[in-house]
Amino acid sequence: MTLDLHTNIKNLAGVGSTRAALLGKLGIKDIGSLLYHFPRAYEYRGNVKTVASAQNGETASFVLTVTAPPSSAKTKSGKMIYKLPATDGTGNCGVTFFNQSYIKTALKVGAVYRFYGKVSRFGRQIELSSPVYEPYSDKLLPLYPVYPATEGLPSTQIHKLISSLIDRGDITVPENLPADVCEKEGLMPRNEAIRVIHHPASFESVGAAKRRLAFEEIYEFALRVTERKKHKQSLPFADMKACDCSPFVKMLRFDPTGAQKRTMNEIYSDLTRKDKTAPMRRMVSGDVGSGKTVCAQFAAYVTVQNGYQAAFMVPTEILAKQHYEDTAPFFAQLGVKVRLLTGETTAANRRVIYEELENGDCDLVIGTHALITEKVKFKALGLVICDEQHRFGVAQREALLEKGEGAHLLVMSATPIPRTLALVLFGDLDVSVIDELPPGRIPVRTVYRDESSRDKIYDFIRDQVKKGRQAYIVCPSVEETEDDGLLPAEVVNEKFSAESYGRQVKKRKAAVSYAETLAKDVFPDLRVGYIHGKLKSSEKTAIMAAFEQNELDILVSTTVIEVGINVPNASVMLVEDADCFGLSQLHQLRGRVGRGKYSSYCILMADDPGDNAVSRLRLMEQENNGYKIAEFDLKQRGPGDFIKENEEKVRQHGMLKLRVAGALDDVQMLYRAFAAAEEHS
Ligand code: ADP
Ligand code: MG
Repeated sequence: MTLDLHTNIKNLAGVGSTRAALLGKLGIKDIGSLLYHFPRAYEYRGNVKTVASAQNGETASFVLTVTAPPSSAKTKSGKMIYKLPATDGTGNCGVTFFNQSYIKTALKVGAVYRFYGKVSRFGRQIELSSPVYEPYSDKLLPLYPVYPATEGLPSTQIHKLISSLIDRGDITVPENLPADVCEKEGLMPRNEAIRVIHHPASFESVGAAKRRLAFEEIYEFALRVTERKKHKQSLPFADMKACDCSPFVKMLRFDPTGAQKRTMNEIYSDLTRKDKTAPMRRMVSGDVGSGKTVCAQFAAYVTVQNGYQAAFMVPTEILAKQHYEDTAPFFAQLGVKVRLLTGETTAANRRVIYEELENGDCDLVIGTHALITEKVKFKALGLVICDEQHRFGVAQREALLEKGEGAHLLVMSATPIPRTLALVLFGDLDVSVIDELPPGRIPVRTVYRDESSRDKIYDFIRDQVKKGRQAYIVCPSVEETEDDGLLPAEVVNEKFSAESYGRQVKKRKAAVSYAETLAKDVFPDLRVGYIHGKLKSSEKTAIMAAFEQNELDILVSTTVIEVGINVPNASVMLVEDADCFGLSQLHQLRGRVGRGKYSSYCILMADDPGDNAVSRLRLMEQENNGYKIAEFDLKQRGPGDFIKENEEKVRQHGMLKLRVAGALDDVQMLYRAFAAAEEHS
């Protein structure tokens, strides 16, 4: 049978229903998604070392001649162990295999093989335990792919499937970029790029393949954005007219900042401009605490003044309640009726609210996903507001929008994304940036420190706790990672150098074991807990609740605390291995403290992180503006890393998922992909 990208994987030799189900878990359903299941890392088998120079514990390749047949022995646990002597002229190596009797005939005395495995050194000899081996030739590939895998389907099996698919040679992968774009950008053809990423012959070719695949990804994303932009132009819109906003302004407890005023003006113009041709699709982007809510309230006010209703959707019950309590009394005085609708609303209340929404008695409803349910109908929904927009999928947003003919949309984002990037990534939205904080905020005092200050820092944390405060300690990972010798896919490109690979992977603090150490050795007198993404959601909720209620003094965590945690009593955050984090991420993390009335501190720990990292950490000490930080980050690392790190927040909106990591290091490429898509759509 002829195969194409849409052929179900069950049609492949070796894929039965069990395997198909396992592949399904990885999101692989057809040939196309199998070919686009890219390696997450590569074994660097081209990293050939000599026996004499090999270091204990490192993973490397050796080109060795087998010098004698294997000796065999039985281990205490009853396993058969086969040991082959081999050499490369610089020293001797024992190559051992367990329970693999075929080794006796598979490996020939006098033949040369490339072995790849982890080194154990015993004096002048080394040993390789269960290495992979290939008969040596100078055509052996230097890089061997390692795939995202799942239990029951290891990377090696995925590799076999993909390899046999590529080796068939009869599957056409049609080019999906216009020829002139490929030519202008100097991009590798699609089928070649796919072959290369799975079977790389060199670092250069992987670099070129990734660039091609990244461009393709952005181009397709850009087409969708362009499509949505066009679609918007054909939509009906709730017509609103200029109205008197002074009652609203008079009711405010504060003077809006310049940025808030600008944003409100932009919203007002979107809604009431005489010559408008499409509904408002606007994002308000502003750091936590920059005062986005008042802009949303303002939009709702204008809407209600025009005889329409507004719906304000937020991701959590807590946020919904906060917004409701903030808005309802204020709006009541303006004659605007506000209701709260969440999963916790009692059935009786819910019925009342449904009715009020349907007959137009309720002007503004604030709620969670509960707003999307079918039961909710509006008399005249004119505005949808989504707070923390990254927490909602496009589909959810659309579902709410559909409840009103021509409803306008306002989404709010707390992720500082540089304007230049926002304009392309959120191309179908207009963007208002609130890049100014209300006056009087005490910034979180941020310092960069190294190991020599560790004891002092621990004392400082204890001191804060003694004063009644709480502390976060953030680590880059959940568990200790061992140096497995793998090259992460994102570092593999033409800029890769073998020397840089030789450097030992730094040991990083891991939340679980570090929390144990802290609890036992450093803060035995304090209450220490930990939280990370791998815990069950009920466990996470319980720990968070304990921290919120001040039943824990110190919360050790991974970046899971980045979003949605509000503990005003927490006054200090220690970030371990701070050089592992992106600046935007550090800024988001830092936003977890300084939410109460206490002076707050953020301590960035990094030991000998290199010049680049030091300048990044110094910037964090000096800069509190999330936009300035994001600009710097974007410039220094390129849009790929930036998007990747903020993927959660960016993806939900436009479904941009960068499968090809690390290839997008030039913001210009992003612009060019968008320009090309616009030209060709
Ligand atoms: P966010 O952008 O994170 O949603 P909020 O809208 O919740 O921020 O505002 C944070 C706090 O700042 C609120 O208590 C709000 O009342 C207050 N606030 C907003 N704007 C101003 C301002 N211009 N002057 C003083 N306080 C303000
Ligand atoms: Mg907010």
